[in-house]
Parts: sequence; structure tokens; C-alpha cells
Amino acid sequence: MSQNELYLPSAAWQEQANVKGMAGYQALVDESEADYQGYWGRLAREFVTWQTPFTKVLNDSEAPFFKWFEDGRLNVSYNCLDRNVERGLGDKVAIIFEADDGSSTKVTYSELLGRVSQLANVLKARGVKKGDRVVIYMSMSVEGVAAMQACARIGAIHSVVFGGFSAQSLRDRVQDAGAVMVITADEQLRGGKALPLKAIVDEALEGGVCPTLKDVIVYKRTGGKIGWVEGRDHWLHEELAGKPMTCEPEWVEAEHPLFLLYTSGSTGKPKGVQHSSGGYLLHAALTTKWTFDLKDNDVFWCTADIGWVTGHSYITYGPLALGGTEIVFEGVPTYPDAGRFWETIAKHKVSIFYTAPTAIRSLIKAAEGNAAVHPDRYDLSSLRLLGSVGEPINPAAWEWYHKHIGGGRCPIVDTFWQTETGGHMITPLPGATPLVPGSCTLPFPGITTAIVDEMGNDVPNGQGGILVVKKPWPSMIRTIYNDPERFKKSYYPEELKGYYLAGDGAIRDAETGYFTITGRIDDVLNVSGHRMGTMEIESALVSCTELVAEAAVVGRPDDTTGEAICAFVVLKRARPTGDEAKAIAKQLRDWVAKEIGPIAKPKDIRFGDNLPKTRSGKIMRRLLRSVAKGEAVTQDTSTLENPAILDQLSEAN
Ligand code: ATP
Ligand code: MG
Repeated sequence: MSQNELYLPSAAWQEQANVKGMAGYQALVDESEADYQGYWGRLAREFVTWQTPFTKVLNDSEAPFFKWFEDGRLNVSYNCLDRNVERGLGDKVAIIFEADDGSSTKVTYSELLGRVSQLANVLKARGVKKGDRVVIYMSMSVEGVAAMQACARIGAIHSVVFGGFSAQSLRDRVQDAGAVMVITADEQLRGGKALPLKAIVDEALEGGVCPTLKDVIVYKRTGGKIGWVEGRDHWLHEELAGKPMTCEPEWVEAEHPLFLLYTSGSTGKPKGVQHSSGGYLLHAALTTKWTFDLKDNDVFWCTADIGWVTGHSYITYGPLALGGTEIVFEGVPTYPDAGRFWETIAKHKVSIFYTAPTAIRSLIKAAEGNAAVHPDRYDLSSLRLLGSVGEPINPAAWEWYHKHIGGGRCPIVDTFWQTETGGHMITPLPGATPLVPGSCTLPFPGITTAIVDEMGNDVPNGQGGILVVKKPWPSMIRTIYNDPERFKKSYYPEELKGYYLAGDGAIRDAETGYFTITGRIDDVLNVSGHRMGTMEIESALVSCTELVAEAAVVGRPDDTTGEAICAFVVLKRARPTGDEAKAIAKQLRDWVAKEIGPIAKPKDIRFGDNLPKTRSGKIMRRLLRSVAKGEAVTQDTSTLENPAILDQLSEAN
């Protein structure tokens, strides 16, 4: 880890923060260590309003199927909407909807409560009951958030499917969930183009392949031409007409499933992760308060799609549970130009901004190629805090984000977590933790992350290993829907002493104890007996800021060294070929040798226009492993965004 630069929160920042200074952080950690259940019980009473209070915090009698707050009853939508109206926040703006075309609308808490209740009445009228599964296949919209909240209101279990997925992926998810309803839109607007949604739903459901499915509710977004199945399809606006604007919430047990969500598929076939109501809501709200330091007058913007867990916890649930004001953004970062994020921050005076490294890296490339969209040209003075999620953020991108977006004054919270964890696990708290670029720093108070070897034994700081969570926590995955065995095998393998296996490798710094994620467990390389994380080599490549925009590193079998390092590189200039490619490859090899050491020099370097990514923007290294070996890709590619890139990379050099 590059420890040469530590960024300390200013005294003023510490003073105003929800968790003040390292003393504040340590007090919470101490409280959780002294009485683990007492700590979570206290927070669950403070952050969640219970219709029936719980008397028991944790039930571990059927571990690893843990139950939290099990005899308590609550309603998640009550906690996000009614409660705020009752607190006097009815006229406060809950959502600022920023449409693709640059127009925006505001929705207050009272209005949102009315819309959600009315939609909940539509679902009820169509026979949707507590425990039924509803698939939401929508673009980013107030209606999308409202659909999730409406399910929560009546105790239905939502499963949001990202609007970029194919008919086949949608069909798989509808079938796996046994959904009774799909909520969708006619089309979605992205980057000035109308893209189909309803047509894909039609294709997914064709031929009666989803026998549980009864109704499709269609939100009219564009008015484009679509097909219609009489009896099955219903316009949302027609369904809403005349329905009451109030709907008594269904009080559910804390363990009642709030949603299913399939993982990104970076490492294999997506898993249907099942989350609870009580424990999940607690952590979504708590992390929004402590990690994002959310205050009454903030304007919060999480750029994730509601199709990903980040959009669940930090759009639909966390900020609303706290009565915050947030942006819901329909468009794409590059439309009408690559200054869209910066322009939108200036327009709505966004104070907290949360995005992904993949977006940052591509906007760096865009800004360096076109001065007109450089963030320095926009008024970003409203920002006070930045966040990153989804992949490790390499130090070079971190520094750029800090300097050009944060103006050097905004802390960056690099939040490590997963679909399965429900909320942040390892992250700085902005008014407390001194920051190190590229490190997600320390566990969130109460979260017991650790690094162990293959047998579950602790490894000393400074030595890499397997990232685990030693104790269960409230917002953890409850099971894989329909597959409890896969849940146990994937996350609680026997050798690991009952610890939760995250699937990522990590290392703790010898001095600070800070965590750095080194890549997926599968991505640890062994070159001539030296173990290396792919992330370290990728970071070294990207730190060659003159040349490199993005890099992915994988291993392939090698007769002499055991494994050889293959790097796939996207340059800031056009993709080189022939002698130019050879010359740049040599330059990059020498660069890595200087940065890390000769042992880390990539044997192969291939240049592409892009890298294979999931639809959530993560690099799919498992596919690159096949390409590196010269094999055909035979794995699950249902979540791959840009299939054509595999051919280009297979042919390259
Ligand atoms: P699948 O589980 O299907 O392979 P996935 O792991 O990409 O897909 P997600 O739950 O969306 O699905 O992503 C969680 C993973 O993202 C983490 O396990 C980690 O590898 C990576 N990640 C998320 N945030 C960070 C971060 N701040 N730093 C490093 N890695 C991160
Ligand atoms: Mg995963």
C-alpha cells in the first residue's frame, strides 16, 4: 500500500460530522466489542421504528441461517415515508428527478407517500399478496423507486432486474423468483435514445414459459409503439386512476424478505441474494448516516441504477429512511456530453456524490481528451463528500477524483461491500478516518472483517489472505433464493470456522491496520512462487497516467513460472497495433518493473478499445482468463455488457 500520503479530515469537518474523529469511531467499535448484541439492539431501536418492538436481537441456533430482531414487526415503507411525514418533513423534497433530456422535477415526502400508497393499492387490486414476488424491470425513475416501496408497503418481495439485461436474463430471473407480476415501462430514455423495455418483457414471457406470471404493469415513459397482450398487460396510469392515495402498511416480521437481487456475475453465474426487512433497513439507514454523514440540508446523489444493490441501499432505502433529499438520474454520464455529472452537481447543488471507479476512469479519459468537459470548468463548490463503490479505486483515479471533483477539500469514502452484505462493510467515516488513496481503510463499527488463511486462521498484518467476516451482522444475506445449499457452500465453507467468506482477497497494512482489497480470491497470481494480487499490478499500470486509461490483469498457466501475468490495457490514445504496440508494451513492462519489481512485469500485454465488463461496469476477469489462455469463452456471459470486445482482445497482438 502506498502509505506516503495520508489525508486527514479537517478540524471543521470532524466537528460537524455525525461520527466525530477517531475517538468517536473507536467509542462505537468498543461498544460493539463489549456487547455485540446490545450494540446492534440499541441501533435497531434508534434507527428503525417498530410496530411491535423486538425482545431478542440475534438467533444463531440455525447458523449460518441467522435471524435478527425476529419477534419485532415493522414496515420498511412506513419507515421511509410515513415516518418522515409524521416528523413534519411532508413538504421536504425527497427526490429530484433529473431526466435524460435535462429537465427535472421534484417530489416531496407527502407526494411520494401518496404515489407509493396508490401504487400499493394497484398491486393489491391485482391480487398481489404478502410474500409474492414482483419483478421490476424499469429505467431510473420515480416510478421505479415507488414500485419498490409499494412492494415493501404490502409485504411483497421485489426483485429488480437492471433495464439493460436481455430477454433471456430477465426470463431466468422471473422463473427463478416465481414472480406473479412484472412492473416495467414502454421504453427507457438513455443518451437521447429510446430503448425498449416492454418488448423485452414480451420476449421473455413468450410461450407461457413463466407460468406463475399473471400481470404486467406498464409505465408510459415515451409513448413509443409497443405490443400488447390483452388480459395480461395493464397501463399504470389507468390502474392508478381512482385508487385511494392511502394504504395501510402491512406489518411484517423483521425477517420477512424485503427483496431478492441477483449479483453482478463478475465471478460466475449470478446468485439470487435474499435480504430481510429489519436488519437490512437498519444497516442501509445507519451507513447512510455515518458513512455519508447525511444531514437535513444535504443533496445526496448516488449515480447507481436501482437494478444494483447500491441503488437499493443508497437510493431507495437509506436516504429516504433518514428523510434526506436525493437525486434520481435517468440519463448516462456522457450525454449530452461527458460533463453531464459535473453540470448536474452544479445545477442541483449536490453536496454528497457517490459513484463507481469505472465511471471515474472513463470521465478522466474524456476530460483529458476534451477541455470543454473538464470538471475544472464547472462550479462544484457545493460538494462536501465523495464516495466510490463497486471495484477497487486505483490511487491515480482517487487522486484525480479528490483534486478535480472534490477540490482537494472533500473526503472520499471508498466503500467496500457486496450485494450479499446489504450495506458498507469496510469504509472510512469521513469525519474520522485519515484516508489513504486505494485503501478502503477500516471496518464499519460493529462489522468484524478479518483476513485469514485457507483454514480460517488469522494472518498477521502486512500479509495478504482471504477476507472474511467473523460474526453475523444484521443486513447480511439470508439465503440464496431456492438454493440454501449453494448459500452454505458459497459463503460458509466448512474449513472457515463459521466465518462469512466474501470471495475477495485483502491485505492489512502492517502499521495502520488498514484494509486494501487485492482482487477476487481467484485472481491471486503465483509467479515463480511469488503471490501477487492482480489489483496491485493493475494499479501500477494505471499509475502510468500519461498512457493508460484502464487495465485488467489475469494469470495464465506457464511452463517455467507456473503462472504468467497477462495484462489487458486500454490506452488514453487510440489502440496501437504492430510496432507501435510492441514499443508501448515494452514501455509499460519497464514501468511495472520500476513500480513493483521485475517479478511483476506482465509477460503478455494486449491492447483493446475497452475491457469486458458487466452491465454494472465491473471488469470480468474470468472471461479474460480464457482469452489469455487462447481458449474459447464458454462461461456464463449473461451479464456481459459488450460481447464484441472478446473477439477484439482474442485477436489483439
Ligand atoms: P458475482 O458475485 O456474481 O461474481 P459481483 O461480486 O461483482 O458479482 P457485487 O455484489 O455487485 O457482485 O459486487 C461486490 C464485489 O465488488 C466485491 O466482492 C468486490 O470484489 C467488489 N467491490 C465493491 N466495492 C469495492 C471497493 N470499494 N473496493 C474494492 N472492491 C470492491
Ligand atoms: Mg460477488
